[in-house]
This record gives sequence, C-alpha cells and structure tokens, in this order.
Amino acid sequence: AKTSGKGNYRFFHENLSEQLVSKLTRQAQLKQALEQDELVVYYQPRVCGRTGELTSLEALARWRHPSCGVMQPDDFIPVAEETGLIIPLGEQVINKVCDQLVQWRAEGVPLVPVSVNVSARQINSGSVSAVIAAALERCGIAPDLIEVEITESATVGESVVASAELATLQTMGSRLYVDDFGTGYSSLSQLRRLDMHGIKVDRSFTAQLTDGPQDLALFRAIVSMAHAIDMQVVAEGVESAEQLALLQGLGCDEMQGYYISPPVPASDVLLMLQKRHLY
Ligand code: C2E
Ligand code: CA
Ligand code: CA
Ligand code: CA
Repeated sequence: AKTSGKGNYRFFHENLSEQLVSKLTRQAQLKQALEQDELVVYYQPRVCGRTGELTSLEALARWRHPSCGVMQPDDFIPVAEETGLIIPLGEQVINKVCDQLVQWRAEGVPLVPVSVNVSARQINSGSVSAVIAAALERCGIAPDLIEVEITESATVGESVVASAELATLQTMGSRLYVDDFGTGYSSLSQLRRLDMHGIKVDRSFTAQLTDGPQDLALFRAIVSMAHAIDMQVVAEGVESAEQLALLQGLGCDEMQGYYISPPVPASDVLLMLQKRHLY
C-alpha cells in the first residue's frame, strides 16, 4: 500500500507539471498566433423576429492555425481567459471588426451594427471602452455600429470598474446586451440600472421550447419581464422552423441561430448585407 501510495504521489506530481507545461505551451502558441495575425473574425447574423430583416452581426473569434485548420473559441478562449491574453485578443477582435466595417462601407452596402463579446476579465481590465473608442476614431465609425455583449456572470460580479466601463460605453452610444441570459443570477432591476439595451436568452431555453407547455411559459415570462422594463429580447440557438414560429408567437424581438445562418467568414456577409431579409 505504501509503494502504491508513493507511486500515486509521483503520478500526481508528474501530472501537475505536465499540465503546467501544456498550459505554458498553449499560452506561448496563442501569444504567437496573436503576433502572427492568425486570428480571424467570423460573423453570425441576427434578424428581426417578425420580418427576418438583418439587424446585427455577432463577431466570433476563430484561430486560423497554420497546421490545425480553423479552431473554434472553445479551444482557445479559456486559455486566453486564464492567461490574460484575452485582453490583447479582444483588442484585435475590436480592431478587425472596425477594419471590416470600413471595408463593407467601401463596397457601398448599408451597414448594420456588429456585436462584440467582452468577457468579465476584459471589462474588469478597465480598458475596453478606451479600446473601442480608439478603434472607432481610427476608422471613422459611429459608436452605434458597435454593440457589446457581456455574459450575465460579468454583470453580476459587477465591480466599480465594470460599472464605470459599461456606463462609458453606454454614454458613447454603444448598445449593451446581456449574453447567455438565464445562466447567471442577475436581477432585472440590476440590468435596468446598468442600462442594458437587451438580453440574449441562452440557447438552452430555445432548445427546451418544444419540450412542453412549461418551457414555453418560462420563455414567455422572460419576454414579458424584459419588455416590462423596456429591454429587447434576442433568442440564441434557433435551429428549426418550429422554434422560430414559437418564438415569433412569444413576441421575441430578434433571432439568431443555425436555422437563420451559422457564423460565416466576412466574405459571405456581403451578400447578406445586400439581400437584407434572411427569411
Ligand atoms: P456566445 O457568445 O454565446 O456565442 C454564441 C455561440 O453559439 C457561438 O459559438 C455560435 O457559433 C454558437 N451558435 C450559434 N447559433 C447556434 C445554434 O443554432 N445552435 C448551437 N448549438 N450553437 C449556435 P462559438 O463561435 O463557438 O463561440 C463560443 C463562445 O466563445 C462564445 O459564446 C463566446 O462566449 C466566446 N467567444 C467567441 N469569440 C469571442 C471573442 O472575440 N471574445 C470573447 N471574450 N469571447 C468570445
Ligand atoms: Ca455572445
Ligand atoms: Ca450567448
Ligand atoms: Ca457563451
């Protein structure tokens, strides 16, 4: 028993250092990726629930790895969060989005706002509003063309810095949305005080819509509560015609999901900007 105990200890020890090495490796790789400009932005449309008209585009980071292909956020955002690289990564995303808006504008198509994801760590760094303001200034873009999505947990852990950042963005004219609504513990009064423009209801609620009358009633309650305090409701993860019809029936303001379109590269967005109505 003693030897196996010792063995376990060694195993545990090696495992820990392996984990550390792997974390440091991934950190170094991500840092290099940012330096070598391997980060690209994909865009997923959001549409008016009633008319299917394009209302906004969500910017979603991808890592175009020279040997691994296009990597999804789940493979690198957590490392970025842990190591603090989310700060320079977020800054790159914002600048790439503004450059892209300039490019679309040059193509002569009417623009829609682009929504960027900002994590708790980013908002608490206290530099997000300045980064956005600088990018807008550099590109000559109006602040209402950038929207900001903050996860519900970030609004709950509300620090003085985070509140000040949100207030600055709000004053600048960028609309604020609570991301993954329903997965955290924010109160509607708190969201109202923070002057959030709307909520993006977590896709788990959309997925459950067809499970039964109670799930439908739950979504209906969210919509009516949000509307009561003048907040817009966006449904995430709309994957079927049935879900879309139910959400339209509930008076959900905007829709986003694979049924409308998956996230696509910028080159595919031009057609959407021209076409305007996606259903
Ligand atoms: P999110 O902000 O909740 O983004 C929505 C995610 O749901 C995206 O995953 C999108 O591809 C996926 N999705 C969209 N429609 C559907 C659908 O109909 N069904 C299903 N099952 N999924 C759908 P993605 O692109 O893998 O991004 C994952 C998360 O990574 C994002 O979740 C966001 O939290 C984070 N992320 C992505 N880009 C950035 C970024 O630039 N900065 C920060 N801080 N986080 C980012
Ligand atoms: Ca989001
Ligand atoms: Ca979300
Ligand atoms: Ca999320």
